[in-house]
Amino acid sequence: MASPPSQWGDLHFVLIPLMCAGHFIPMVDIASLIAQHQVKVTIVTTPLNASRVGATVSRASASGLPVRLLEVEFPSTEAGIPEGCENLDALPNMALMTNFMAATGMLQTPIERLLKEVTPPPSCIVSDRNLFWTGNLARDLGIPRVLFDGKSCFNNLCMYNLHLYKPHEKVADRSELFTIPGMPGNIKFTRAQLHSDFNSPSNVNMEEIRKPIREESEAAHGVIINSFEELETEYVKAYKKTNEGTRSWCIGPVSLCNKNMLDISQRGNRSSEDESRFLGWLNSHPPRSVIYACLGSLNRVKPDQMKELGRGLELSKSPFIWVIRGANQGEQLKRWLWEDGFEERVKGRGLLIRGWVPQVLLLSNPSVGGFLTHCGWNSTLEGISAGVPMVTWPLFGEQFYNEKVLVEVLQVGVSVGAKEVVHLGEEDMHGDMVKEEDVRVAVDEVMSGDDEVTKRRKRAKELAKKAREAVEEGGSSYVNIKKYIEYIGEAQS
Ligand code: UDP
Repeated sequence: MASPPSQWGDLHFVLIPLMCAGHFIPMVDIASLIAQHQVKVTIVTTPLNASRVGATVSRASASGLPVRLLEVEFPSTEAGIPEGCENLDALPNMALMTNFMAATGMLQTPIERLLKEVTPPPSCIVSDRNLFWTGNLARDLGIPRVLFDGKSCFNNLCMYNLHLYKPHEKVADRSELFTIPGMPGNIKFTRAQLHSDFNSPSNVNMEEIRKPIREESEAAHGVIINSFEELETEYVKAYKKTNEGTRSWCIGPVSLCNKNMLDISQRGNRSSEDESRFLGWLNSHPPRSVIYACLGSLNRVKPDQMKELGRGLELSKSPFIWVIRGANQGEQLKRWLWEDGFEERVKGRGLLIRGWVPQVLLLSNPSVGGFLTHCGWNSTLEGISAGVPMVTWPLFGEQFYNEKVLVEVLQVGVSVGAKEVVHLGEEDMHGDMVKEEDVRVAVDEVMSGDDEVTKRRKRAKELAKKAREAVEEGGSSYVNIKKYIEYIGEAQS
């Protein structure tokens, strides 16, 4: 796995991830990707997050990669967060998100203390864009800070052009389509679909939150992107022409660094159920027949909307796996699933999994022929890497941009027709729901066998092949990691 000792033996990269699955898991992958070039890597995080990936990091280290975890205590009490909630996915409600972000800021002093003691001294910090205080930390240590951006170049370019040209301010109505200038292709959105920077949650002053993040992003030395050049060529090129993108390195899909079964099945967390139950079930189905439905690690989709999703899957022609995370399992949904007989009705054809699933493992199973996704960028890229066409149901953040990439740019997705961002914590305020029939139609369109479906499937397979080639030795992402390491090496020498 590890390459021979390199000229960069004294380099030491410190990775500081934001503690939520979509940001934390790819950072752990990035740690091993950098360590494969025999550069020392330390991931700094809190004890409960470290325990989710401890076995994976220990295996990597035992195989010869110079990678390790260092822990700092999470200041739950000081920040007013219940004990045990060290990850955004564990918060009892999203009103605590501000406290959570404040808690991450309190880590600066203990991390600085820690990093002043480690040997060799850190050469660079790779930290999440949202952890803006790591800019100060890097300056105090006299080393560069490189951002990790859990998003695509398409997304970053959208954000850049929206800030620059403000086309959303020129439309009268939230549902009016407008073109974003500066984007290759004619990319259109409505204001209701935009990221919260331009489409504020009702009672949050986004500017106050975003300003320090933006300023520290501008001060950073570069950006690491979990994407690959062949996936979004035009957007990579255009992003590289922006101030922020000048020094950006596409090094993904990072999930493909997990090669052995244990690493794939334990990626990011332990499965909440015995895997043999769902792997056995999957293996009893024909190739490409099953649709896998999972709306990510953070969603708080309300029970009525979950029921529409469940009914849509039931009405579709395909066998399905439906992942229901803890936060969705309120009493109302539980009653519907059990007492109202949903689970009984779909028995044999539908498998419900509650809690954490090994998503990459499931997607790689030959029986999975489609992925109903909320279009988080990791899930989007994992679907692309698995070569499966997708049913797209964006919920919040930049997920509508990712849907646009899947449906219009790459043409490997079919939309359920969601119309507006549902900000985390504001789920109950939205009346406009995706209906069971919308879900059924989109699932059948992705899974059935007509000509267009075959072409879509072929496009998805070709992208998966390009993804694998990008991360192999000599591939674009492999070369970009080397270039990134060289950049830091030269900055240090
Ligand atoms: N994930 C997983 N099992 C789950 C839920 C999520 O492995 O039960 C992983 C998924 O593979 C992805 C990450 O968690 O790597 C979620 O990130 P994404 O950007 O897709 O969405 P988010 O959860 O941040 O909304």
